[in-house]
Amino acid sequence: MDDTRIREFEKIVGAEHVLSTEEDLISYSFDGTFTEGRPDIVVQPLNTEQVAGVVALAHRYQMPVIPRGMASGLAGGSVPVGGGIALSLTRMNRIVEIDPDNMTATVEAGVITADLQNEVEALGLFYPPDPSSVKQSTIGGNVACNAGGPRCLKYGVTGDYVMGLTMVTAAGDVVVTGGKFIKNVTGYNLAGLLVGSEGTLGVITEIVVRLIGKPRIVRTAMAVFDHLDDCSRAVNSVLQEGIVPATLEMMDQTSIQCIEEAMNLGLPVDKAAMLIIECDGNNEAAVLEDMQALADACRREGAAEVTVAQTATERSELWRARRSVSPSLARKAPNKLGEDISVPRSCIPEAVRRIQDTSKRCGLPIAVFGHAGDGNLHPNILFDRRDEEQNAKAEEAAGEIFQIALELGGTLSGEHGIGVMKKNYLAKDIGDVSITLQKAIKHAFDPKGLLNPGKIY
Ligand SMILES: Cc1cc2nc3c(=O)[nH]c(=O)nc-3n(C[C@H](O)[C@H](O)[C@H](O)COP(=O)(O)OP(=O)(O)OC[C@H]3O[C@@H](n4cnc5c(N)ncnc54)[C@H](O)[C@@H]3O)c2cc1C
Repeated sequence: MDDTRIREFEKIVGAEHVLSTEEDLISYSFDGTFTEGRPDIVVQPLNTEQVAGVVALAHRYQMPVIPRGMASGLAGGSVPVGGGIALSLTRMNRIVEIDPDNMTATVEAGVITADLQNEVEALGLFYPPDPSSVKQSTIGGNVACNAGGPRCLKYGVTGDYVMGLTMVTAAGDVVVTGGKFIKNVTGYNLAGLLVGSEGTLGVITEIVVRLIGKPRIVRTAMAVFDHLDDCSRAVNSVLQEGIVPATLEMMDQTSIQCIEEAMNLGLPVDKAAMLIIECDGNNEAAVLEDMQALADACRREGAAEVTVAQTATERSELWRARRSVSPSLARKAPNKLGEDISVPRSCIPEAVRRIQDTSKRCGLPIAVFGHAGDGNLHPNILFDRRDEEQNAKAEEAAGEIFQIALELGGTLSGEHGIGVMKKNYLAKDIGDVSITLQKAIKHAFDPKGLLNPGKIY
């Protein structure tokens, strides 16, 4: 990029926050997948006004703008596949306000999810959305992907907590939509449209989120199974008890073994599957009773063992295991293709069985874990990209997994989004008419196609 243009960006955000050396550009070429794409320049604004200035300048020069949080995304969404400006929001990391009376927090887009959670929990409040990347991801990225997480079974996904947004349009105008008020039918729900838009409709700079009271009592249990089918059935049985656990997470044997190899936590590597179940509330006796009922449901379905964590350390070890599953898989094979299908809950056993068949047919290990209570499974295909045959097999397996999801009445992505990784399968899932409508929405927001081009469609 020519120096004059670089100087113009520097005037807006300061010279030290415009990066253009080869090393810098390489650093901003990746996300949590193996997608690659080098930006022409990296710009790191500090506030909404600077974002608006940068986006307006990009609009003038017709340069693509790729909004970027912590790049933990698993769909290639923040990768600048066609070049352009990597617009890093991570300097915008201020928690602007926590308002206990209205039970809201107002945060800049670059706030790390766990930082917000810790701050509000210190005040007895609770921000439930908890992607497993909670210590890395930003709230802006969470909103842009409508991130889920283990607790979404009981508490819902990120979008359920978004009350208002400040965003910068493709032309560089600032729009404030929604706010601290709960009810709002004044025009279309623009904030709702931005949720899950993966940086293609606007740059989110500030977010008002709803908070709830923090549950005082939490109990966590691990149930292990000799047969995957028993585990899948136990998920349905647990939910049919009429108790909504806060989380109901599943890991298959490949996942358990990979975590144990990486972390040495004493997990049962000989078992076919395990569930992590958590109940919470404010009444200790009631929470314990619920946990007992859920443990009994697991035993009825054939659980070999159910253990309730007795101490905070035991509980945090269980969560350390669950949160480490994705990084631990890296030890099994150089690459992993992580999928994110969502199926009706009753179809989990069949989905898992068919994914195992795919694994055998393609000759590649596929670890299956995920938010079983939501029917949201993450089959991770383990392979070596340098091997052409394995590469082709991994693609084939991914295609089969999507087909399985669709045949069972499910969908391609429960929480990671489409990005570049799944866009070739989109039409099969949502159909041409829906795509035409969605493209019309995109055109209304971004007629020149400058916001995160090449994503979703
Ligand atoms: C180990 C691991 C575990 C994970 N677990 C989960 C999980 O349990 N649940 C889950 O939902 N996801 C999970 N993810 C995926 C990922 O962390 C989430 O998608 C997260 O929301 C991305 O946040 P980010 O700040 O890293 O966004 P990025 O990866 O930087 O960006 C993601 C998308 O959002 C857009 N975007 C980012 N910020 C903005 C903004 N301010 N305005 C407009 N668009 C923006 C980008 O353009 C891109 O399309 C996991 C990832 C990893 C690596």
